[in-house]
Amino acid sequence: MPEIPDLEAIRGFLNQRLPGVRIERAEFLIPIVFRVPKDEFVHTLEGNVFGETRRRGKFLLFGLKSGHLLVINAMLTGRFQYLRPDQKRRARTCLALGLTNGWELRYWDERLMGKVYLVPTGKLSMVPQFAEMGPDALEVSQEEFAQRIRKFTGQIKNILVNHRFVVGVGNAYADEILFAARIHPYRKRTTLSDEVIERLYQAMHKVFAWATPIVAEQMREELSYEERRDFLKIHRKGGEPCPVCGTRISEITAGQRITNFCRNCQPG
Ligand SMILES: [Zn+2]
Repeated sequence: MPEIPDLEAIRGFLNQRLPGVRIERAEFLIPIVFRVPKDEFVHTLEGNVFGETRRRGKFLLFGLKSGHLLVINAMLTGRFQYLRPDQKRRARTCLALGLTNGWELRYWDERLMGKVYLVPTGKLSMVPQFAEMGPDALEVSQEEFAQRIRKFTGQIKNILVNHRFVVGVGNAYADEILFAARIHPYRKRTTLSDEVIERLYQAMHKVFAWATPIVAEQMREELSYEERRDFLKIHRKGGEPCPVCGTRISEITAGQRITNFCRNCQPG
């Protein structure tokens, strides 16, 4: 699942290429992902010009000169491609936008779980989830973070990945943030002192500030659709030595989610 560093890298890549570029052809290929009728999609996009691409949580918001936003939530398996139009299309390519600069922007989605919306700017509340979403993890202030977290009970990892609390943190980076903050992922929020909550906030910023340029560098020349996570310190490193203390990294799988932590650095 793409998380903040991946989406920020995609956003940076596209913002170096799309603003001012006209869409000459809009292809509506797999209807199930669209939350906008085909005619409206094609009619609004063809001839339109890209502005800036922004991000909120896991949604990418493509600004358009007409004042519309093309909003895409890639969910688990949605991926973007930016390539020449004659390059072979993957099965499950949901949309393709032919651009006047000679490139094509595509969105493909192995499991077709992503969603594509088209809304007027200022009407983001028309997108389900937007109304209930908390602030973006990169933008929330320490004060708001500390205040909001009091409304949530239960295990701290579950709270971090809950989009009603803050948006943009997923399973992989939640493990990294909790490791950096030295907090056990299953600790109950109600047992965490104000000081520990402050440490958690600082760790969240530190981890994203560290990871985002690494992922961006990997995506400088080409949009990659494999998430590169091999540089992470703890997530998916079960059984390996903790980079801080050498203790074997623990791994617990619940549902389909893997949680990794160091039981020495992150005591219960
Ligand atoms: Zn350790």
